[in-house]
Amino acid sequence: MTDIERLRYDVVVIGAGGAGLRAAIEARLQGKKTAIISKSLFGKAHTVMAEGGAAAAMGNANPNDNWQVHFRDTMRGGKFLNSWRMAELHAKEAPDRIWELEAWGALFDRTKDGKISQRNFGGHEYPRLAHVGDRTGLELIRTCQQKIVALQQEDHAEFGDYDARLKVFAETTITRLLKDEQGRICGAFGYIRETGKFVVFEAPAVVLATGGIGKSFKVTSNSWEYTGDGHALALLAGASLINMEFVQFHPTGMVWPPSVKGILVTESVRGDGGVLKNSDGKRFMFDYIPDVFKDKYATSEEEADRWYDDPDNNRRPPELLPRDEVARAINSEVKAGRGSPHGGVFLDIASRLKPEQIIKRLPSMHHQFKELADVDITAEPMEVGPTCHYVMGGVEVDPDTAAASVPGLFAAGEVSGGMHGSNRLGGNSLSDLLVFGRRAGLGAAEYASATTVSVPDAEVEAAVAEAMEPYQRDTGENPYAVHQELQQTMNDLVGIIRREDELEQAIEALGKLRDRVGNVAVAPSAGATVTEDRGPAYHPGWHLALDLRNMMIVSECVARAALERQESRGGHTRDDYPKMSADWRKINLVCSLRDGVVELKRQEMSPMREDLLSLFELDELKKYLTEGELPAEEKN
Ligand code: FAD
Repeated sequence: MTDIERLRYDVVVIGAGGAGLRAAIEARLQGKKTAIISKSLFGKAHTVMAEGGAAAAMGNANPNDNWQVHFRDTMRGGKFLNSWRMAELHAKEAPDRIWELEAWGALFDRTKDGKISQRNFGGHEYPRLAHVGDRTGLELIRTCQQKIVALQQEDHAEFGDYDARLKVFAETTITRLLKDEQGRICGAFGYIRETGKFVVFEAPAVVLATGGIGKSFKVTSNSWEYTGDGHALALLAGASLINMEFVQFHPTGMVWPPSVKGILVTESVRGDGGVLKNSDGKRFMFDYIPDVFKDKYATSEEEADRWYDDPDNNRRPPELLPRDEVARAINSEVKAGRGSPHGGVFLDIASRLKPEQIIKRLPSMHHQFKELADVDITAEPMEVGPTCHYVMGGVEVDPDTAAASVPGLFAAGEVSGGMHGSNRLGGNSLSDLLVFGRRAGLGAAEYASATTVSVPDAEVEAAVAEAMEPYQRDTGENPYAVHQELQQTMNDLVGIIRREDELEQAIEALGKLRDRVGNVAVAPSAGATVTEDRGPAYHPGWHLALDLRNMMIVSECVARAALERQESRGGHTRDDYPKMSADWRKINLVCSLRDGVVELKRQEMSPMREDLLSLFELDELKKYLTEGELPAEEKN
């Protein structure tokens, strides 16, 4: 195995989105030799697509905002299934992470008096999203990259080598985490996209920051690389995933033309005044305010419209309900035959703001619709509908250190689970990446200081054999065809509204697909995907064949957990169990792999700390908690 490149690091970070970059910066600041690995080009992670902003209770736009209010909103948004400790850390630390970003050079939009401006978003009581127009994620990534370059320049000054303690490996895909004889992480194995060559990263600590799973679904806002790799890598290494049934369908994806179906229309459109209308021209969201939110949302158009100028004396427009509520409402309108011509509903900002205001506040949206759908959003409404957007479920981690159950493994960002409960509030992801990216970097650096590992040859041999399997078959399945079927199955049977019989069908269909995934072939002789005799350099068919294993595992977790959870909550709606159940609220569903088969267990959540519980009114707690969980003095 001399032809396989072997590299040694203290900390290896898989993923170069916001979570990965923040983790890597922290590990390097702790003096650790750190590698950042990204499947796509450096700078092209999902995080750059984030439009609306990063939620942090800085109180710039409304001085009443503070971490307690943000904590409450996050728990409400997640329907109290969140890891309350993560929600607490997130709400407390998000402002510092935003100010830190500013100190590193981020150019946020400003309020009139020069503070970082904050905008409204669904489920947030006060304007809370620090933003840069509708290109906030791009600025976050640009700033972190700038910080990385600054650190590399420091290293050059000290060691004469820019890469001495922080090196980026772009277009490099990890296919296996490696473990030593003691069951600890000892590195990661992958291939370099450009050459197809294999590479081994030897390291005691690995941080997973690989983002989401959207590419398992047909209609999604996610791009090609979001195939659940980190989720699957963690499971294969012996870690567990929690609450994979909770998949967020963003209410407003583009529905037309088909080539761009699913692409996101930012929630800022609604935050800035946009309203949802059905084919009768009715603002239908007033019909869909659930009981738990009745006292917080306006019940008339007049009050809703007044709220934009006078939020202290009016309730919020129902268009700004949490995403799960809005997505279900749109789904119901379309099902009832009141949808738009292409199967969505209308999102109208044109009649609400002046063209120049729209272009100033929402430049990317204006451009996106003009270029891709020939729609001028300053003059006519957009057609929008739900799109698979974000996965709340993910690697089970310790909230304080981001450590997974396997020694040496850490996870942060979308790949980790718990923080957002059953439904993530918009803007809470970018702040999550910064808060827990930093904590994962710290956790990994600390662990690496005390641990030395070496990679057993057998681990590398097994990883090579697995990666080469699609090349070894003379005949087999076309990975693109199998992928399409997987996406269709997930969309049709495990989508926004679920039912027992359909989920059972899905599990059966996934079982059959699993066998087909195990039989994909990409060698020229298989005739499946290549038309010329080529090796593994830049071979997308081979890459997809390897990604399919991950999408398969993750899809099984989603389907099995969705079947098990007999209630509707957040990003999991069961037609046959339409109500939230206080008994189910206490339960996390935990997935692990045994002999390659997904196993599911119920795990009781730890009760919320008293001081956090006391931030809520008893009447509100009664909507979510069982009698036994209510604060002691309040039970009678
Ligand atoms: P990502 O940014 O997704 O990065 C994952 C990284 O992992 C990439 O570098 C990828 O190449 C790498 N990777 C994956 N697999 C492998 C592998 N096998 N080997 C090596 N590398 C790998 N959230 C908000 O808070 N506010 C918003 O306004 C907002 N808007 C959004 C708009 C859109 C269109 C989308 C899609 C999402 C939006 N979100 C928003 C959600 C948010 O952007 C994501 O949840 C977040 O960026 C995820 O960040 P991450 O660091 O976890 O992963």
